Amino acid sequence: MITSNAKLRINLPKLCDTESCTGCLACYNVCSHDAICLDVDEEGFTRPTINTDKCVGCKKCEKACPVLGDKHKHKIPDEAYAAWSVNKNIVCRSSSGGLYSVIADYVFRHNGVVFGAAFDKDWNLRHIATFGEKDFSRTRGSKYVASFIGTTYREVHTYLSQGKMVLFSGTPCQISGLKSFLSLVKCETEKLYTIDLVCHGVPSPVIFKAYLEYLSVQFKSPLKEYNYRDKRWSWKRYNSVASFKNHKKHYGKWEEDYFMRGFLREYFLRPSCHQCAFATEQRCGDFTLCDYWGYRRNAGEKDNKDRGISLVLPNTQKAKELFSHIKDNLVYYQRVPSEAMKGNPAFHRCFPASNIREDFWRDFREKGFEGVIDKYLYPEEIQAQFKRVYKYGRNGVIAIDYYHQIKNKLKSFARTTKKKLLHA
Ligand SMILES: Cc1cc2nc3c(=O)[nH]c(=O)nc-3n(C[C@H](O)[C@H](O)[C@H](O)COP(=O)(O)OP(=O)(O)OC[C@H]3O[C@@H](n4cnc5c(N)ncnc54)[C@H](O)[C@@H]3O)c2cc1C
Ligand code: SF4
Ligand code: SF4
Ligand code: SF4
Repeated sequence: MITSNAKLRINLPKLCDTESCTGCLACYNVCSHDAICLDVDEEGFTRPTINTDKCVGCKKCEKACPVLGDKHKHKIPDEAYAAWSVNKNIVCRSSSGGLYSVIADYVFRHNGVVFGAAFDKDWNLRHIATFGEKDFSRTRGSKYVASFIGTTYREVHTYLSQGKMVLFSGTPCQISGLKSFLSLVKCETEKLYTIDLVCHGVPSPVIFKAYLEYLSVQFKSPLKEYNYRDKRWSWKRYNSVASFKNHKKHYGKWEEDYFMRGFLREYFLRPSCHQCAFATEQRCGDFTLCDYWGYRRNAGEKDNKDRGISLVLPNTQKAKELFSHIKDNLVYYQRVPSEAMKGNPAFHRCFPASNIREDFWRDFREKGFEGVIDKYLYPEEIQAQFKRVYKYGRNGVIAIDYYHQIKNKLKSFARTTKKKLLHA
C-alpha cells in the first residue's frame, strides 16, 4: 500500500540550490498550502524549505522560481536618460537623482500604493506597502543589506485586483520573483509599475547588525538613524552616517568605514549575488534605475554631480508613457542606452566572492565583529585609492571629487600656515 507520505515524496518539488537561491520568495508567496517554511541561515539570509507534511506536490513553487525559469527580461530599451528631481531636498535624501521618489509621487497622485524597503525598529530591513509621504520616506534611499520580502507579492496581487495602481521597487531578482508570482496567480498587471535597481549585491544582515552594535558600543548610545549614502560632501563617494540618540554622529568615509570595506571587498554578500543572472543590459523592471557614474555634460546642459544623477532606462511602453508625465518634475537629458550603461560595471557582470570569504566568516564566528577589523576591514590602501581615481577618472566622476578634496586640504593648510605665521 502506498502511504500518503510515500506518494508525496515522489511528487515533492525541487527548489533551486542554496548557493543560487536569491531569497526572492516567489515560491513562498505562491504556495497556497502554507508548505514553505522560512529559516534564517547563519549569515542572516532567508532560506525557504519545504514542509513535506503540508506539501501537496502541485509544484507551483518550482514554476515560480526565477532562478529555475523565466527571468522576465525586456529588450534593451531605445531610450536612456540622465535625470534628477527638480526638488533639491528629495535629491539630497535619495541615493542617486531621486527618480524613485518622482515616480512614486505620480503613483500616489493616482491613489496608488508604493512598495519599497524600510527598516523596522530593530534594524531589520523589509519590503513594505506605503500610501503617502510619511511611510514612503522610510523606503527612500538605498540600504546595502538584504531586504525581507515577506508576503508583499500577495499584497500586490490584492491591490491590483482592487484596480489600484501599484509601484514595486527592488533588486532585479525581487522584481523577477514578483512577476513570476503574478503570472502564476493569473493577475492582471496593467496597473503595475516595477523598478529594478542596478545591483552590486546584498550584504549579510548578521554583519550589518554586528557593525551597528559595534558602533553603538563605541559611541555609548543606541543608534537613531543610519544613512548609507550621506551626500554631505559628495554623491560620488559611498560615505555613510550613523546618528546616535546621544546626538553624536559617526561619519563613515568609503575608504575607511568597516562595513563599506567588507561590502566592497565581497566578504559577505548573499552567495547568489556572485552568480547573478540579472547583471545584464536586458532588465526585468518597467524602469531600471541606478547611479549615472559615467555622466558627461554636453554643451548647454546642467550638472548635478555633487547631489546625484540617476540613469533611467524606461524598458517598456508604459514606463515611457509614465516618464512623459513626470518630465516637468525633472531635469533630464536623453542619452544612448549602450553608451550610458558602459560607465556602470553592474550592468555587465556580477562580482566574484573574495577568495578569503570563508576565512572571514570563520574568524567572525570565533572572534566577533571587533575580531575581524584589523585583518579584513582595514582602510583602502592609498595605491588602490589612486588606482580608482585613474580608473574612474577617465569618466570624469571620482577624479573631480578627489580634485576638490585635495584643493580643500591645500586651502585649509594654507589658511592654518598663514595664521601661524601671523601669530609667530
Ligand atoms: C543593494 C543595492 C545595491 C545597489 N548597487 C548599485 C550599483 O552597484 N550600481 C548602481 O549604479 N546602483 C546601485 N544601486 C541602486 C542605487 O543605489 C539607487 O538605489 C538607485 O539609483 C535609485 O536611486 P534614487 O535616487 O532614484 O532613489 P532612492 O530613494 O535612493 O531609491 C532607493 C530604492 O531602493 C529600494 N531599496 C533600498 N534598499 C533596498 C534593498 N536592500 N533591497 C531592495 N530594495 C531596496 C528603496 O525602497 C527604493 O526604492 C543599488 C541599490 C541597492 C538597494
Ligand atoms: S509543491 Fe505546491 S504545495 Fe508543495 S510547497 Fe510547492 S507550492 Fe506548496
Ligand atoms: S523562488 Fe526565490 S526564494 Fe524560492 S527557491 Fe527560487 S530563488 Fe529561492
Ligand atoms: S546581485 Fe543579483 S541575486 Fe544578488 S540581490 Fe542583486 S539581483 Fe539579486
